[in-house]
Amino acid sequence: MAAPPREPLVIRSLEFMGGMATAAGWRPQGGLPEIAFAGRSNVGKSSLLNRLVHRKKIARVSNTPGRTREINFFKVNDQFVLVDLPGYGYARVSKERHAEWRPLIESYLRDSRDLRGIVQLLDVRHDPTPDDRRMLEFLGDVGVPTIVVLTKTDKLTPTQRANRISALAAELDLDPEQLIAFSAVTGDGRNDLAEAIESLLSQPPWQESR
Ligand code: GDP
Repeated sequence: MAAPPREPLVIRSLEFMGGMATAAGWRPQGGLPEIAFAGRSNVGKSSLLNRLVHRKKIARVSNTPGRTREINFFKVNDQFVLVDLPGYGYARVSKERHAEWRPLIESYLRDSRDLRGIVQLLDVRHDPTPDDRRMLEFLGDVGVPTIVVLTKTDKLTPTQRANRISALAAELDLDPEQLIAFSAVTGDGRNDLAEAIESLLSQPPWQESR
């Protein structure tokens, strides 16, 4: 009998390490590789993270009042650190709150020696917002390897989905193969994302090649 296919990124342990609240604030010092997740509020980041790690814990911690504007760090399998960046660009927060995310996220991204890659989330149904574009541009400037994941694909028919993936690939100047289509409802794309993360973790730090 054939062995069952191996699930990429099996989660054996998940531990909340703490939150980074200001640009100069606490951040993990353990030297474990870090993978960060970015996206505008409501893009489906908590749902994606829960699916990825098969736990409810991440969303619970990151959605605790007071933690939603922080960068939250979780140790996975004593192997790497999952970094949940605050959702940006939420229309209902005031202008001042609105601008807060940039210095915090940007200082984390610029100064992280252990950062191995970013998973940038975009809603498959919508064109990137100005905040999304600013974020993607910033990631390009920093030079960090970036995986783009399109969320909520279950909301479209297969034909609509294929059309949107081509349109977004053209828009972002990427090959459609470079985009991961994801649904937190069906679990589609979970293993593709897990494999992409494993691949980032297996590569030498990108900063060394600069
Ligand atoms: P976050 O603000 O980025 O953490 O977004 P959430 O994960 O809280 O999701 C925002 C809303 O979108 C919630 O109502 C979710 O139930 C819904 N949602 C998230 N992911 C999916 C998905 O893959 N499919 C569908 N249909 N709804 C989703």
